[in-house]
Amino acid sequence: MTTEKIIPLADIRYASRVPHIPARLAAPTGLLSDTRGRPLRDLRISVTDRCNFRCSYCMPREVFDKDYAFLPQTSLLSFEEITRLAKVFVAHGVEKIRLTGGEPLLRKHLEVLVEMLAKLQTPQGKPLDITLTTNASLLAKKAQSLKDAGLQRVTVSLDALDDATFRRMNDVDFPVADVLKGIEAAQKVGLAPLKVNMVVKRGTNDAEILPMARHFRHTGAVLRFIEYMDVGATNGWRMDEVLPSAQVVERLNAEFPLSAIDPNYTGETAERWRYADGAGEIGVISSVTQAFCGDCNRARLSTEGKLFLCLFASQGQDLRALLRGGYADEQIAAAVAHIWQGRDDHYSELRAALPADTSSPEANGKRVEMSYIGG
Ligand code: SAM
Ligand code: SF4
Ligand code: SF4
Repeated sequence: MTTEKIIPLADIRYASRVPHIPARLAAPTGLLSDTRGRPLRDLRISVTDRCNFRCSYCMPREVFDKDYAFLPQTSLLSFEEITRLAKVFVAHGVEKIRLTGGEPLLRKHLEVLVEMLAKLQTPQGKPLDITLTTNASLLAKKAQSLKDAGLQRVTVSLDALDDATFRRMNDVDFPVADVLKGIEAAQKVGLAPLKVNMVVKRGTNDAEILPMARHFRHTGAVLRFIEYMDVGATNGWRMDEVLPSAQVVERLNAEFPLSAIDPNYTGETAERWRYADGAGEIGVISSVTQAFCGDCNRARLSTEGKLFLCLFASQGQDLRALLRGGYADEQIAAAVAHIWQGRDDHYSELRAALPADTSSPEANGKRVEMSYIGG
């Protein structure tokens, strides 16, 4: 039995810079590259910092309690503001948008935003890949309207099939059966391929790896095992609670032989495996034991419009200040280009160079929370 140390949250949400607007406004080419030669392809947008779950690895209830100051409605980017920024990012090469949070389905009328984003096209005239990560508590109710609005697929987070384990992990006593209903509804309306994310914490839910695999084989859903990460500053992360993906694959392979398959695209976070008997595919996301910063083409837009270039960043760039400060799209596009071209983030690679039980002391205690920046 491990005891978890919960660290009080220092509110650093307001630590941000107002971006510099370059004097020369070059038109976007879709070919931006950062200081490590990485393009900008993937934008994750947090549409709310609120959630109806209190997963201990993300929003521990000791911190996110009734006194916690969530952002006021006026701080949030409106759908029009989000779409305006998304358009700028798409002009710079973004092809994929993931809506996240907090719990994105708590944001009222989210399907209206999906509809607005679905109208955007890449400079080559292709539609965007639009997806959503959700705890599925409201998915059964919303799957059809999201699909009708133009959402293509969803990723559902589910950490256990055993009801008692899952209720403990979400810490609001939410039952597995209702998540499964959400998954079923999403598959029924054609939100596919559906992915299921399971964060694996050694000693908490690693006994659920095989039951989860057995359940999702032959269903068309792609189950992905995520290493528990030292994201944010409140979850009391410890290396000994991380189960390396290599061990997850070993355990699965012992019951269901697996063979490796190629990534779908450069920068894909999951390493893909196929069941040898044709029962489908699984993935492992090894953010801790195998840094994949080298191909990281993701930017994150926080609930209140701050741009973060890394999940482990401690400061954002305040794009909302530009939106609400009367700047033109060309100026905002030039500011975004300037920010991306200066990007050097590679936190997971740095962490890999540290002693086993530490996350970067420099970043520790200063990082933004995942519920705010978007997973
Ligand atoms: N509420 C939605 C959900 O849970 O799917 C979307 C937001 S949540 C922050 C996005 C993803 O981040 C989820 O799949 C969640 O399991 C994952 N996540 C949160 N904290 C994590 C941590 N410490 N390590 C690894 N994954 C984490
Ligand atoms: Fe909520 Fe998702 Fe974080 Fe769990 S992982 S607390 S569901 S935002
Ligand atoms: Fe990308 Fe930062 Fe994660 Fe590296 S640590 S893969 S740069 S988000």
